[in-house]
Amino acid sequence: MPERSPDAALFDKVVNLCKRRGFVFPSAEIYGGFRSTYDYGPIGVLLLRNVKDAWWRSMVQLRDDIVGLDAAILSPPAVWEASGHLATFSDPLVDCRHCGTRHRQDELDDPDVCPTCGTRGSFTEPRQFNLMFKTHAGPVEDDASVAYLRPETAQGIFVNFANVVNTSRKRPPFGIAQIGKSFRNEITTGNFVFRTREFEQMEMEYFVPPGDGPRWFEYWCAERLRWYVDHGIPERLLRLRSHDPDELSHYSSGTSDVEFLFPWGWGELEGIAQRTDFDLTRHAEHSGEKLDWFDQASGTRYVPHVVEPAAGATRTMMAFLMAAYDEEEVRGETRTVLRLHHRLAPYKVAVLPLSKKAELTGPAREVLGRLQPRFMCDYDETQAIGRRYRRQDELGTPFCVTLDFESLEDEAVTVRDRDSMDQDRVAVEELVPYLEERLEP
Ligand code: ATP
Repeated sequence: MPERSPDAALFDKVVNLCKRRGFVFPSAEIYGGFRSTYDYGPIGVLLLRNVKDAWWRSMVQLRDDIVGLDAAILSPPAVWEASGHLATFSDPLVDCRHCGTRHRQDELDDPDVCPTCGTRGSFTEPRQFNLMFKTHAGPVEDDASVAYLRPETAQGIFVNFANVVNTSRKRPPFGIAQIGKSFRNEITTGNFVFRTREFEQMEMEYFVPPGDGPRWFEYWCAERLRWYVDHGIPERLLRLRSHDPDELSHYSSGTSDVEFLFPWGWGELEGIAQRTDFDLTRHAEHSGEKLDWFDQASGTRYVPHVVEPAAGATRTMMAFLMAAYDEEEVRGETRTVLRLHHRLAPYKVAVLPLSKKAELTGPAREVLGRLQPRFMCDYDETQAIGRRYRRQDELGTPFCVTLDFESLEDEAVTVRDRDSMDQDRVAVEELVPYLEERLEP
């Protein structure tokens, strides 16, 4: 992993690489882009999927106490009335009477001075601006058809609590995990995909007996911090920060954030919150349904308390990119390489015939056919081999497999390692086990 901390120059380089190599494009770019909205290109969609798969693997696949869910994005107002989002999910907005710009009051360096025109005392009284996207379900646009795009995936989990309990045979402590899009009409977007209006979250609600909340909170803080380290972010770029009491969300009795050292300072990747019994109690009250647990061993009924690790997939993807970006001098030239954890790398292997001649591309495609069922592969026969290696380095591809004319004789290929650039000659027959051994599942 690179030694340096992310700085402004590195930020620009990563954003530039994302555009140039097909990770992330501004949305509706041919129309001038659309308000901090981004599209994930051929490489970005693989990286983002791998980030989500890595989370799912750790949170669902490798555990027997957590199940998955995929709830709807569109939801009725009743959900958000109960959750408190309609009343409290808002930011304070002020307008400058002098230049007409709008700002989040809680983000101003000096709450009396407009950062755009410098005028003092020009702000209007703050107004609470609700961050939820409102729409209408069905053809009639009236109050009865109002619906919201979810601003977090968590509520879909709480409203399905009874469904999951009744069908999954899980008992506290157990969790429900969900990955999906969330929408917030953020006032200040920016820093590339750090804060966008449409983004993806990876959230898990862990239901525990009431007294056990604090213990599980400690457990999940440690566990989630370790996940980022295990996936290649150096510890010095990560920290856990506990919220001051005045920062806490309306549902939380304690929150710690996993933060990453972005070029502009520490920024949240994930919030781990003790949501207590707030959500289940509110939904039980508002819906009239019982949302509790009967513990047969002790003969008691209780509303489980909830510990929630809530991460952003898109924001986290950006942190992984910044941590992985590296440049080094190789024979007088600068080599750019993404030292991504193998599990996250968009392509695991690139197959590169040395020449475009059919006598090489035919066998190269055969090798590709052997690898594709097992690994996500790229195939590239254009340009000089050096430039193709450089491209794969910039995509973070751990291994390049090159076929040359000797391969036709010895039925072997050259395998080049992304990080060390070491090359091994490997028999085609041995290639799958060779790569399997080196690529973590
Ligand atoms: P922030 O303080 O940055 O607004 P938050 O505390 O409101 O974030 P949570 O509600 O805890 O965020 O959401 C969990 C995670 O979802 C965040 O840690 C972040 O990674 C991600 N996230 C939240 N808002 C956005 C956004 N507008 N764009 C991208 N990711 C986001």
